[in-house]
Amino acid sequence: MVSWQEQKSKKLPQNPLSLLVNRQRAWVEVDLDALGHNVCALKSWLNSATKLMAVVKADAYGHGAVTVAQTVLAHGADRVAIATLAEGVELRNSGITAPILILGAINAVEDIQAVAAWDLEATICNPEQAVVFNRTLARLDQFLTVHLKLDTGMSRLGTDWQSAVAFVSLVKSLSHLKIASVYSHFSTADEDDRKIMDLQHQRFQTAIAQLKAAGFTPPLIHLANSAATLGDRSTHYDMVRVGLALYGLYPAAHLTQVLKLKPVLQVKAKITQVKIIPPGEGVSYGRKFITQEATKIAVVGIGYADGVPRNLSNRLQAIVAGQLASQIGSITMDQLMLRVDHLPQVQPGDIVTLIGQQNQLKITADDWANKLETISWEILCGFKHRLPRIFV
Ligand SMILES: *Cc1c(COP(=O)(O)O)cnc(C)c1O
Repeated sequence: MVSWQEQKSKKLPQNPLSLLVNRQRAWVEVDLDALGHNVCALKSWLNSATKLMAVVKADAYGHGAVTVAQTVLAHGADRVAIATLAEGVELRNSGITAPILILGAINAVEDIQAVAAWDLEATICNPEQAVVFNRTLARLDQFLTVHLKLDTGMSRLGTDWQSAVAFVSLVKSLSHLKIASVYSHFSTADEDDRKIMDLQHQRFQTAIAQLKAAGFTPPLIHLANSAATLGDRSTHYDMVRVGLALYGLYPAAHLTQVLKLKPVLQVKAKITQVKIIPPGEGVSYGRKFITQEATKIAVVGIGYADGVPRNLSNRLQAIVAGQLASQIGSITMDQLMLRVDHLPQVQPGDIVTLIGQQNQLKITADDWANKLETISWEILCGFKHRLPRIFV
């Protein structure tokens, strides 16, 4: 029970939670039991031969990559994936020995050298990149495990699925690259309408069949993100790449019945002042809230510089003392105000839950995302490093 910064410097998770919380104005609370539960739930959903690759890019969707990676691996995840070289180095540096796949593209020669030096695995997206990788590795006299990416309709990284045989044949011929897998990525797996998802799946199947016909069976085949993992077992193949569901959120409303997942992250902050404002006064910058009557407000020490989007101003609710309270006025950089007329007991030092659950009340990243017309992924990734991650 220690913030991830302290865990890195001391490697001794011994501080009682209360001590840490005492010193914070606001923080992200990460429930490692919930995380472990989600890994086990996902594992039970998978065929026993299917591997679970835990996607911990973007600091594990804001949850703290090192501790999350250690926890998911301890609960049976087989591998981890991140997006950038630096994210991979952070995990290796922390002592993680499991295979680490970089999902993003690596192009610079210095970066290829670093991938090899840190014993990371790379995604190869096209033949030209494969040649540069091989030349660089040959000079170093090093070998690298790589995963080949096919584009089946996402139109992001990867070689067009129709060129799979030529692409894979070329990589096979390169002396210093060892192919670990062939994979692709869905663009619409979270949508109700399965048309495009099925089309992408068919294209992927065709490409794999052509590879096999040409005499190459990839050691691993993988395709599914969280939405496909929950929504369509025929997409599981040898491995699934799960991000969002690990963190206890569902990629879409129609996928909530499949597994019982537990939200891992809560966002909390402390009340710093409580006072009564007379009628007709403006609250916060721009006076976007004007009191109609004497109004009791609580000032809370969290703002948009912590990752509470300013666009939620006057639309946010928080849980205080087991009850909902409405946020009023513009959210400022470091602080926001709640209306607490109905809460006679609140006082400075009380803890406010912005995302999380208390008693029967629950506010999720999805609630924020719906208000902002975005997705929960973006909300989770939006919590800044100014908020310490506290693991409970
Ligand atoms: C981020 C990512 C995932 C995980 O996506 P979720 O929807 O969070 O499960 C899987 N595969 C690739 C290639 C990704 O970039």
